[in-house]
Amino acid sequence: MCLFCKIANKEISSNIELENEDFIAFHDINPIAPIHLLVIPKVHVENFQKASPKLMAKATSFIQELTIKMGLDSDGYRLLTNNGENGGQEVMHLHFHIVGGTRLKWVHLSDNNPKAAI
Ligand code: AMP
Repeated sequence: MCLFCKIANKEISSNIELENEDFIAFHDINPIAPIHLLVIPKVHVENFQKASPKLMAKATSFIQELTIKMGLDSDGYRLLTNNGENGGQEVMHLHFHIVGGTRLKWVHLSDNNPKAAI
């Protein structure tokens, strides 16, 4: 069983902020901003590429509810998911990062020239 399945099953403890029958939101163990949450489906889905539109529709309302609860909805936040090797995904269970609580920078994420052809 993967790490985030164990968190979803409460076999590994986490700092849970919101939960419903399909999703759990908990605080990232290594935050990159004042607020850094992870939203995971309770079912094991490898990443966004494998996710169904039905699951994503449910994720949308869960994430919106979470950001309202955290007071992020009016000032804004960043929502991102790392997908696969080039995306930098480390835990192979779909998760959305919700980062906020401050004005976030927008930086180049690659060492390569962003304008160079792949
Ligand atoms: P990613 O690189 O997108 O796969 O992100 C994985 C994230 O999971 C990282 O931001 C880690 O800090 C976070 N993480 C790993 N283990 C835990 C854990 N036990 N509890 C909370 N967050 C975790």
